[in-house]
Parts: sequence; C-alpha cells; structure tokens
Amino acid sequence: MLVTLRHPSDADRVAAQLQALGLWTERLKSDTETRALLVRSDSAHVEPRAIEAIDGVSAVWIAPATHPRLDALTGAPVAVRGLRIGHGAPAVLISGPCSVESPEQVAESARVVRAAGGTILRGGAYKPRTSPYAFAGHGNRALGWLRDAADAAGLAVVTEVLSERDVEAVAEYADMLQIGSRNMQAFGLLKAAGRAGKPILLKRGMAATVEEWLLSAEHLLVAGASGVVFCERGLRSFDPSTRNLLDLGAVALLANVYRLPIVVDPSHAAGRRDLVRPLARAALAAGAHGLIVECHPNPAEAQSDGAQALDPQSLAGLADACHFGSAEQEGRS
Ligand code: PEP
Ligand code: MN
Repeated sequence: MLVTLRHPSDADRVAAQLQALGLWTERLKSDTETRALLVRSDSAHVEPRAIEAIDGVSAVWIAPATHPRLDALTGAPVAVRGLRIGHGAPAVLISGPCSVESPEQVAESARVVRAAGGTILRGGAYKPRTSPYAFAGHGNRALGWLRDAADAAGLAVVTEVLSERDVEAVAEYADMLQIGSRNMQAFGLLKAAGRAGKPILLKRGMAATVEEWLLSAEHLLVAGASGVVFCERGLRSFDPSTRNLLDLGAVALLANVYRLPIVVDPSHAAGRRDLVRPLARAALAAGAHGLIVECHPNPAEAQSDGAQALDPQSLAGLADACHFGSAEQEGRS
C-alpha cells in the first residue's frame, strides 16, 4: 500500500500516526523530499478509509491483492463438522496414528485421543513414502476403519489425499482433507481437492516460502474449498539433529498478524517423541490455533513414524501440559 502526502513536511507526523495504527512505513523520496510512504506488507490490516482520514494524507493506493479470497477470510475461523479452528476459537487437539494399520489399532487410537481431550482423529490411509518399499497404507478400506473409529469416539476425521483420483473417496469419509507437505504445490491435486467443497488442512512444503503457502491456499479456495487450515510441520534444514526445523516465526505471523487459522505438527518437526511436548507448548505460545500430534497404542509396533509417536500416557500428558479442555484453552483468542 502506498500513502501519498499533501506536503513533504507532513511525513514524520503521518508516519507516526500510521505506526500507532500498526502500519510500518518506508519513505519514498523524490529529490530529497518524502512524497509518499510505502506501507510494509507485514503491517496490521487497517481500512484505507481510516488512513485517508489522517490529516496530511492525499491518497491511498492499494496494489492488487495476490490472494484476495484468502485475505477476505482474515480473522474468520474454519468450520470442521461444527468445530471451529482459528482466531477466537479454543485451541484444538488433532491426533491419531501416522498410518491406519487395522480396525483395532485405529479404534483404540480414537479412544485414546478422545480421552486426552482431542476432537479430530488423524490417520493416513494413503501414505506418501520416500521409499517405494515402505508401507504405503491400506488405501480405501482404511478410510472406512478410520471413519468407524472416529464415529464411535465422537471425533471428526482428517486424512491425507495423495492423488486426484482418490479425492472423491477420501471426501466421502473425511470431514477435512489433508494436503501433505510433498504436495503443497501439486496444483492439479489442489484443484481437485478444492472442488470437494470441504475444509482443507494444508501442510507447508518443506522448502516453501510463506507467500507460496498462502498462494496454494488461494488455489484451494478458488477451486471451492470451504476453508483452509494451515499446518506448519517444519522445514528441511542443514541440521539432522531434528527431523525438520520448526518455523515458529511463520506460526506467529499467520496467527497474530494475518489472523489465519494455523495448527502445528510437532511430531514431523521433531521426528522423536521426547521433543514433541516442548515443541507443542512453544507452538501454542506462539499463537497456534491447535496441534496435530501422532500417537499409537503401541509405538514400538507402528508401521510408520514409530520414533515420533506418543504412547497413550504421553498423549494424555501433553494434552494436560497444554491445558486442552481447560478454561485456559477455552478462553484463548
Ligand atoms: C502426515 O501427516 O502423515 C505426513 C506425511 O506429514 P507431512 O506431509 O508433513 O510429511
Ligand atoms: Mn507420519
């Protein structure tokens, strides 16, 4: 946004008044005088009319928005089966196994998640695996096991859709479709998933900028998604000490400045269960509207991501430490 000035001598006063509204500016000089102030994109959202009303402002120029549909949803929580995720809503706990392995395993997981205060069950029926020889999920039949387990425990369902071909089937069973990190810019898949008209959990690509992430959300909204919940799950870094590098700066930016719904996945960020709880707490402190955490009734037997899966007791401990279901989370905004 560009704010032009009536007189260069107004620059200091107008800049101070804009700053008081949460707008950070840079001076644009012609010759040696400031003729206009450029409002930085990381500033607060302020109605142009409020800026035009400042004495000394001659005009406000707004660049065409790159993600207008998303911008219009600022401050609005996303509805997932009657549950709200985002600004002003209590933080949500989404949990479940990495992979749906059997009807019994996912039913037991659902009971554990429910007992811990979770409201959405996660679990992969279709799994993106780096190795073609690794367990890739039970596919379509696992969707039914997941749905039955969630219904029995009174939970909503989120699960990943890997291919355009499977969107219809996944949308039949899931309340929210997950787009995995590896597919954040698979534009054909984004279009197909958006067309299902459901809310989408959009994981950040492991090397994606925030702007690229926002534009992928715009693709989903253009195609017809009912809302987008962002999920920060860590970036690929130079350091193998943790599986990924959790970008809490981006979480704070989306939650507090852009006021877009964002949850954090400390499990894939850490890659090891002993770091999941501290990262979860840090994520909520940064403003995240919820967590997505992997758990397993018996992590030693997990067919994928066992090292980062919490056992039932640890999930209950994490939920307790993060005050899920308590007045503290209910009162968050
Ligand atoms: C997952 O949540 O199951 C998953 C594969 O995560 P990501 O896409 O973040 O790697
Ligand atoms: Mn996993």
